[in-house]
Amino acid sequence: MRYINKRFLIENISVTNLAKKFNTPIYCYSYKKLKTNVISFKNKFKSFNPLICFAVKSNTNVNLLREIRKLGYGADVVSIGELMKALKAGFNPKKIVFSGVGKTSNELNYAINKNILLINAESKSEIIEIEKIAKSKKKYVNIGIRLNPNTDAKTLTQISTGKKENKFGVTEKTFIELVKHAKKTKYINLKCLSVHIGSQIVNNQPYEKMLKVVDRIIKKINHKFEFIDLGGGMGISYNNKVKKLNYKKYSTAIKNFLKNHKSKIIFEPGRSIIGNTGILISKIIYIKKNKDKDFIILDTAMNDLMRPALYGANHQIIPAIKKSKNSKKTYEFVGPICESTDKFLTLKNFQKLNEKDLIIICDVGAYGMSLSSNYNVRPKPIEILVKGSKIRIIKKRQKLKDLI
Ligand SMILES: *Cc1c(COP(=O)(O)O)cnc(C)c1O
Repeated sequence: MRYINKRFLIENISVTNLAKKFNTPIYCYSYKKLKTNVISFKNKFKSFNPLICFAVKSNTNVNLLREIRKLGYGADVVSIGELMKALKAGFNPKKIVFSGVGKTSNELNYAINKNILLINAESKSEIIEIEKIAKSKKKYVNIGIRLNPNTDAKTLTQISTGKKENKFGVTEKTFIELVKHAKKTKYINLKCLSVHIGSQIVNNQPYEKMLKVVDRIIKKINHKFEFIDLGGGMGISYNNKVKKLNYKKYSTAIKNFLKNHKSKIIFEPGRSIIGNTGILISKIIYIKKNKDKDFIILDTAMNDLMRPALYGANHQIIPAIKKSKNSKKTYEFVGPICESTDKFLTLKNFQKLNEKDLIIICDVGAYGMSLSSNYNVRPKPIEILVKGSKIRIIKKRQKLKDLI
């Protein structure tokens, strides 16, 4: 994704042409970028050959899931719907793990019938529910228990999951109790310890702390875990200012950890695989001039991309066609929805914009479309996958008539 002769291209296709052909807004992904991310993530940890399960919640497009599966990954799901999509995309059940604090009896039942690799339980009540179902089916079920390592991931508080005040996982004390309980239970095979401390983590210290906690607890209890599931959460650069996660250090820390524990490592990355593969293309409807700033009113809104409204996240905005003249005004990029949080970014010294110009919101591959809604009865955007000079519609634009 780059400018050639001032026009922004995704692989060999210009954004302007896509907008002409499909109208806007458009979620557009690059296959090449996706493939590069999938392979490079795998290579970063290749010395211990982990099982990598893509976190489906970050992007649930079945066609993208299928491409990720073809490149050798498994899937991490958090609901029966995601599990169904993962199966539809052809993931081997033996490469699927199921996380989440509130799996219903119906969801557990379905997962057990499908013989997935692991159900990562997050409470005693859930383990009892799994036991009940397993017993009624006379079936041995592989589970993990999610530990809350009480580690601050040093990320946005809204996406931090590994501190004791968060609802996720169980405390060390409960964990030890549950291990004892699970080992006594006939139809449960306790195979995994899982952790996931948060998302958009760019500092490797929290990961190293987490490993220390896991190491200490395993040494305390007499149980061999076939798998240690370290979750996902690896951050990406949404702008040049954000520091990058040091994968080398993280990988080394895991290698050291594995000297004492002969387990297979599982990862559940979402954002780091899909985040920077996608852009959101939008057209300016109106420019509303104001004293201090101009409102750039786009045809995309918080219903299409919720992260700025939900977390105060910043996504870079760039023009589809570069012009040399800059505006002296401050631009505030907003959507048409009746909420004051429906704004994306405020920028100074942006190039001079006109109504009907196209702009691009960057790095929206993760938690973009998957968090979208129909708020204000707005149909969801079309999704397109570009591979070289080929354009593939991987999800049609929702039709108004289906919403009404
Ligand atoms: C959300 C989530 C992930 C993926 O997080 P990313 O930050 O997208 O890598 C992995 N595991 C679990 C349990 C999650 O809830």
